[in-house]
Formats: sequence, C-alpha cells, structure tokens
Amino acid sequence: MESAQSMAITSFDDMIQSELIERLETLRRVSQQNAENSAFANFIDEVDAAWKRYEAGTYGICEVCDGALGADRLLADPLARICLDELTGEQRSALENDLQSAAEIQRGLLPKRDFAHGNWRVDFAYHPHSIVSGDYCDVIVEGDDLYFVLGDVSGKGMAASLLMSNLQAIFHSLLPLRLGLDEIAERANRLLLRSSLSNQFATLVCGKASADGEIETVNAGICRLC
Ligand SMILES: [Zn+2]
Repeated sequence: MESAQSMAITSFDDMIQSELIERLETLRRVSQQNAENSAFANFIDEVDAAWKRYEAGTYGICEVCDGALGADRLLADPLARICLDELTGEQRSALENDLQSAAEIQRGLLPKRDFAHGNWRVDFAYHPHSIVSGDYCDVIVEGDDLYFVLGDVSGKGMAASLLMSNLQAIFHSLLPLRLGLDEIAERANRLLLRSSLSNQFATLVCGKASADGEIETVNAGICRLC
C-alpha cells in the first residue's frame, strides 16, 4: 500500500515538473519575439514564481489559507496560487462570466445546422457534458465536397475547450489545402502536439463526403467507429 502511494506521489511530481519545464521551454522559444509584450512578461514572472515555490517546497499550497490546491486543480492550472475558496463574491462572479463567454464562443464554433449541400443533407446534435467542453463537432464545405470532423479532447472544462478551439482552427486552416485525409490528420496531429500540454490528447474521426456519394474517413483513435 505504501509503495503504491509513493508511486502515485512520484508520478504527480513528474507530471508537474514536466508541465513547468514545458512552459519554460515555450518561454525560451518565443521570448525574443515578445520581449516588449507586458502580458507575456507577466506570464514569465508567474512561471518563474511557480518554479521558486516548487524549489522552496511550497508548491501546491494555497498562499492565503495554507490548504492544498489538489492534484486536479494543479494539473489543470500548474501556475495556480490560491484555492477557489479564497475568491471573493466579485471574483467568483467574474470567473462565472468568463465561463459563460467561453461557452458562447464555443457554441459559435459549431457548424450550421440542418442544411443541404448537393445531395447531402447535414444535421447534428451536440450536448456538451458541462458548460464548456472538449467535444469537437464540425462540418466544412469545400467546393462540391463536405468534410466532417467529430473529436474529443481529453479532460474537461476550460483546458479541454481551449484545445478543442485550437483543433477547430487547425482543421479550418488545413482543409482548404485539399490534401488527402491521411495527410490532413498527420499535419493536424503535429500542430496539436505543439500547443497541447503533455497530459492532453485528442481522438477524432475526419471524413470527406464527395458529390458522387462516396464517403472516405480517417479514424484517429475512436475505436467504436472502426
Ligand atoms: Zn485557500
């Protein structure tokens, strides 16, 4: 039992270290281009402060009440410094407003409902589990063809929804290039890898419905549709 516990602690430690190292590497990569940007400078300070807390052994402890922030919270936001209990009513309501705006933006990313393109008729149902989600549903018209994407980003909430919107932008940039579906999936995979955290991933099916009635799909990890 004890060894199982210490293994769990080590693996959480490894994950946090790798999250922080990843952020430092990102900072190094882009620091030259963004030296004048104040939001970027704040971000550098926050990552730096997280490292200092880590080295001092105070990482993951709420700076207000000394309570533990919890593994889930830290994996979702490795730079977190206070627990949500410390938020004032005003801060909580600001956070709720942010979530509502994010949900609205996410709904705006959904494709058009109930329309026809050539001989194809398109409709879908989308029921996210929470206010924002990592579910990705898309239909993109390119000439006579229809492309559709159904995907699921790992995890829940804001982090998953951010990656989902990134995935959507990737597909909207790649599909007009009219590459083969396998090439599109490979490029999307590489691009997503650059912007995701090491514990995030996505599974999806991307398909092309041609005007002649043919459907071609590429399946990246959604086993039920194999
Ligand atoms: Zn606290």
